[in-house]
This record gives sequence, structure tokens and C-alpha cells, in this order.
Amino acid sequence: MRSPLVVGVDIDDVLYDWSGRAHELSLAAGIAGDRPPAQITSWTPYVEYGCSADSWHAVIHRGVQDGTLYSADPLPGAGAALQALVDAGHQVQLITARGCGDFAGLTSELVRQQTRAWVDRHALAHHGLTFSADKTVVRTDVFVDDNADNVARLCAAGTRGYLMDRPWNAHVTHVDRVRHIDEFVRAVLADRGLG
Ligand SMILES: [Mg+2]
Repeated sequence: MRSPLVVGVDIDDVLYDWSGRAHELSLAAGIAGDRPPAQITSWTPYVEYGCSADSWHAVIHRGVQDGTLYSADPLPGAGAALQALVDAGHQVQLITARGCGDFAGLTSELVRQQTRAWVDRHALAHHGLTFSADKTVVRTDVFVDDNADNVARLCAAGTRGYLMDRPWNAHVTHVDRVRHIDEFVRAVLADRGLG
């Protein structure tokens, strides 16, 4: 049996439909324009909506303050996928940039509290939960993230980085691209050239 792997997993738009939730809140707030897009397709949704960045940040900020942004269920299959990694003997490290930086003046600790509570509430199998914009702060063997820059940095640090397929990274050429956390877990468990 090969040795266990340290498996890094991003949360937003990997385990959690952050962009979908943010879009719902934007629609409800009426900032998404007269002909709103079906979904967010970039890191700058306010451009897609035709509203100001401040308006969008205000919606996100309110979603944090009233708890609506981070309170939805995990994406379907996310919990089972993490459990499958743990059951196979691997170490799961959840590493998220939530609560990092000063995005829209959010209260970092509030975001972190909500995230810890969400992970506990859904009993997501994991060995560590780290809040960091730099995903290389925890040494990992393999990692899945939807941010192509993060994946590039992880690969440069020696981690096999998988890119979660999302509209905002569709232009990036990357060999290890997955469309769902299930697909990532299958790749890890199949030991496709890892180790
Ligand atoms: Mg993400």
C-alpha cells in the first residue's frame, strides 16, 4: 500500500457554491441589471451586472453580516467525497482564503466563525482547516482549487494541483482539470501518477 497523501481542498466553488450564492443575493438585491446573466463567469461580476464594484461589495458584505452568504449546504456529493479520502487513509486539509485580506471591509473573524460552524454543521471529514490566501502554507501532495493562480503556485511548490473547472478559469490550459470534487477524488484514489 502506498503512503497516505496530504490532500488540500479549497472550499469556495469547490465544496461550496459561493458564486451561485453570491449571484442569488445579487439578484435579490436588484443589482444584476435588467437582463441578468444566468451565472457569474468572472472574478468581477459587477462588470457583468453593469453595477459599481461598491454596490456588489455591499451585497456581499450584507450577506456576511446577516449570515446568508455562507449558510447554504455544501455542493452535492462534497461531504461524501471528503469522507472517501479520509476512509482511504489520506489526510484532508481544507485551505480557504475566506476571511483573509480586507475584502469589502468584511470582518474576518465573523467569516471564519461562520466557516468553522458550517464545516462542523455538515460534519465535513477533515484533519485541518486553514485560512490563508497562500495555499502553499500547508505542505500538500495534491490540491484542488478553482483559482488558476493558486493552482500554478501550488504546482511550483511541488504539489500536484488540480484546477476545478469554472467559467473564470476556462481560458487556462491545465492538464489536471476536474469538473466536480468527485472527479478529483477519483483521480486521487486511482493514484494517477501520484507519489
Ligand atoms: Mg475557490
